[in-house]
Amino acid sequence: MENLVDLHIHEALDLLKKKEISSVELTQSHLNEMEKAAFLNAYITPTPESALAQAAESDRRRAAGICGALEGIPIANKDLYCTKGIKTTAASKILSQFIPPYESTVSEKLKHAGTVMLGKLNTDQFAMGGSTMTSWFGVTKNPWTDETGAYSLVPGGSSGGSAAAVSAGLCMGATGTDTGGSIRQPASFCGVTGIKPTYGRCSRYGIVAFASSLDQAGPMARDVQDCALLLNNMAGFDPKDSTVSELPVPDFTAALTGDIRGKKIGIPAEYRSDNLNADVAAAWDKGIRLLKEAGAEIIDVSLPHTKYALPVYYIVACAEASSNLSRYDGVRYTTRVNGNTLDELYENTRTDGFGAEVIRRILLGTFVLSAGFYDAYYLRAQRVRRLIYNDFKQVFQTVDALLAPAAPTPALTYEAMKNMSPVDTYLGDVFTTPASLAGLPALSLPVTLSKTGLPIGLQIIGNHFDENTVFHVAAALETAANFNKRPHRVVKG
Ligand code: GLN
Repeated sequence: MENLVDLHIHEALDLLKKKEISSVELTQSHLNEMEKAAFLNAYITPTPESALAQAAESDRRRAAGICGALEGIPIANKDLYCTKGIKTTAASKILSQFIPPYESTVSEKLKHAGTVMLGKLNTDQFAMGGSTMTSWFGVTKNPWTDETGAYSLVPGGSSGGSAAAVSAGLCMGATGTDTGGSIRQPASFCGVTGIKPTYGRCSRYGIVAFASSLDQAGPMARDVQDCALLLNNMAGFDPKDSTVSELPVPDFTAALTGDIRGKKIGIPAEYRSDNLNADVAAAWDKGIRLLKEAGAEIIDVSLPHTKYALPVYYIVACAEASSNLSRYDGVRYTTRVNGNTLDELYENTRTDGFGAEVIRRILLGTFVLSAGFYDAYYLRAQRVRRLIYNDFKQVFQTVDALLAPAAPTPALTYEAMKNMSPVDTYLGDVFTTPASLAGLPALSLPVTLSKTGLPIGLQIIGNHFDENTVFHVAAALETAANFNKRPHRVVKG
């Protein structure tokens, strides 16, 4: 049998059902691979003992005929999801000792479906960033190597640990979160598939908050079907989150029919700038051609307020972050640095516990919310956010979905990113933030390799709560693109 870490979730479920493999075998193979690839630093906290115990329990359940929808499948959670009794750090120093007494709704649902958790995955600190370089636990390496064969590339972020682990065979699927692109951009950088569902499709309960009006949980996996399977078992109403939707969750796998004849796909003009990276432009053109050949109708559309999405996102996200992160005061949750007064305790704790990028965003957010600047920045940003939303609502009257690049470049090197200013790194979110601000579902899937052999993903954006159309189009594009490349099996440290 092929190496078990190459299997997709739906393939493994078949083999488990036929009793050709056990969950313990499947889990052990992934644990072995995790050990070999420890240098990638995809995991902050691996949990091998509890994983094997969970796998053994899953095998017993299966033998007794009790099977969840994802029975026995080894997955891992971004370290932003609170896991009861297991350290949850948000890749920060301030939460480096935090052991939650409760479980997030989404990770609970995945457990309930029979999954086995292999551990907690690296991320940018408090999900702020696009490379995992802001993690207090060090950067994750992209399993795809550069032309010299060196592991010099970032995996993207913030869900970079999730993307790298899925890509390298260190878990079969993973949870991510996406506030402004953190599922879609790392999926593109690592050659995996990931979907940010509609805002409100999944509960945010127990997920460390970054920007509450944007944060959304979503799955990352090796193909579209696996993402649909995972999302089936993550989504749904939750009385513990007042913003989660009460709409019923359809079976997303039912949308994967492959026949997209007559579907109307919009191509937003504003995403094509003169200096668009040549590899990304070529990938986009290829995607357009493939959808056309599959029978879709390609329609040029315009989203005129797209150019404001990035500044609006950074105002709104920082404002909400500054408010959300005020709870880390050294009194509850956190590592504490004492002082002579209460104010000093706060100051010392927060100065010591937050990284530079997190502090920058708290300062920016506090500034845009301050009395003198609230109208000029925050209120204005909220108004423009509505215009961005209206643009999308308008085009969805004529098209079923949109096709656009997920990221402006293939994976960048650490060296290149180290020398970039914060604002330059923010520019990497130019294609993902519009759908985030509008709360729309958007999926990134790999379609081709760049000239230097790196994966490039395209993004399919759908209307609110229409993940089914997103999955439907994505499955057809996936078949047509036939992207079956994986990084070289990890061999060295
Ligand atoms: N890269 C974006 C940021 O730094 C998006 C992060 C996210 O989606 N969590 O804010």
